[in-house]
Amino acid sequence: MQINKTIYELMTARCSLCADRELGGVLGCVRSGAICFVKFESPDSKDLWYTHVPNADYINKVTEGWPSYFQFAGLFHIHKSNNNRLSVADRTYFEKIMSFMPPEITVLHFPLYVLPEDRLYGFKAERTEDGSIEITNESITVV
Ligand SMILES: [Zn+2]
Repeated sequence: MQINKTIYELMTARCSLCADRELGGVLGCVRSGAICFVKFESPDSKDLWYTHVPNADYINKVTEGWPSYFQFAGLFHIHKSNNNRLSVADRTYFEKIMSFMPPEITVLHFPLYVLPEDRLYGFKAERTEDGSIEITNESITVV
């Protein structure tokens, strides 16, 4: 995953202050390029990560204020207690989101910000040639 330096700094600064709640947010890019947009979950929203039935309407609602050239690129969330592994629920959620993406989106990014380590770990969901969805680690490059 490539991420714009300003967005990376904004995200990590905000996440590192999240001792009290598990913030999440939506990531955007332009033409499958580096992540160049982040929308933090609003304080009064229902926690993104307890949504068990992800659907296209939900993603559309979150991204509706975006300029048309922004493309949905994935989601991030925070884990505490230095837990740098995705849960079964995380993986199921990411697979479902990926499964309703249009064919031109072949990869989505689901980075995980881990506290108190203060480190961003990269994960991606990718559609393979046989149509299945794979979730794997990925490196993060700040550009
Ligand atoms: Zn999680």
